[in-house]
Amino acid sequence: MIKEDSKKITIALAGNPNSGKTTIFNNITGSHQHVGNWPGVTVEKKDGFRDHHGYNIKVVDLPGVYSLTAYSPDEVVSRNFIVDDKPDVVVNTIDASNLERNLYLTVQILEMGAPLIIALNMMDMVEATGHHINVQALSEEIGARVVPMTASHNKGTDDLLKEIIDIYPGKQQHTLFKLNYGHEAETEIAKLEKVIENSPISQKYIPRWLAVKLLEQDEDIIKKFKKAGTAYDDIIKAKEDSIAHLQSIYSDDAESIIADARYGFISGLLKDVLKKPPVERLTISDNIDKVLVNRWLGMPVL
Ligand code: GDP
Ligand code: MG
Repeated sequence: MIKEDSKKITIALAGNPNSGKTTIFNNITGSHQHVGNWPGVTVEKKDGFRDHHGYNIKVVDLPGVYSLTAYSPDEVVSRNFIVDDKPDVVVNTIDASNLERNLYLTVQILEMGAPLIIALNMMDMVEATGHHINVQALSEEIGARVVPMTASHNKGTDDLLKEIIDIYPGKQQHTLFKLNYGHEAETEIAKLEKVIENSPISQKYIPRWLAVKLLEQDEDIIKKFKKAGTAYDDIIKAKEDSIAHLQSIYSDDAESIIADARYGFISGLLKDVLKKPPVERLTISDNIDKVLVNRWLGMPVL
């Protein structure tokens, strides 16, 4: 039962497959769960709720994805929920022991302008392998709250709930994340923002995000502009011109240029926040290689 006087918060859980989304979902909602389908697609929809400190928190478990392009129904469902339903908070579950790969999705969620909290999960794995993550630095560099967790031991759930309530609209200003794509791409992004500015689509979504999506040839976004009608031919022409211009300068397609810039940002970030153990222990396959090499050389095996 939802109490009459409780304030409602809707959160979406977004993350790579196996980042611990379901575990965190279960920790938050317990037995208050409902499973159905997303409208129009055979993608499972799971939601649940939790009453906490006078708030009714609705939790929507989005499909696990690595990216937010429009290549799969899972990706379209995830990002449409974030940009269309505008949950109060997006909780991005991250497998902290695979930080680089997981942050690729994080960057894309940030670019959508969603208020974000990072559930930095699998901290037990990070510690077990002798790695160290500077949580404070990570939080500062991406401009989002970061909650270290070990969901499989139900560690961090209360901290996460506290941050969710704390970021709730009206309580906290959130700054728009802006990744720098380099001078040439930024010039094209600015041009595209101008061309799309009178389209109703630009009232609904963040224009910069739309411009980047156009450079990425995102079919779902192109369809949205087509449906809206306004300046559609101009938008398509501007998009083609921009892509051709970037191609001529970088000898690479715009989609790759965008992806490379995201990876560049992430690798810079990792240098600041991730400390590897001083000596990496040899993996099993390294040891086998060593034995084989030594046999080949006829030297005594270690
Ligand atoms: P999902 O695919 O994102 O929904 O991930 P799941 O919640 O199903 O978790 C994937 C696997 O990781 C499961 O076997 C979980 O038990 C495990 N897992 C979840 N959280 C943690 C954690 O913090 N540490 C460790 N070591 N394993 C975890
Ligand atoms: Mg799951």
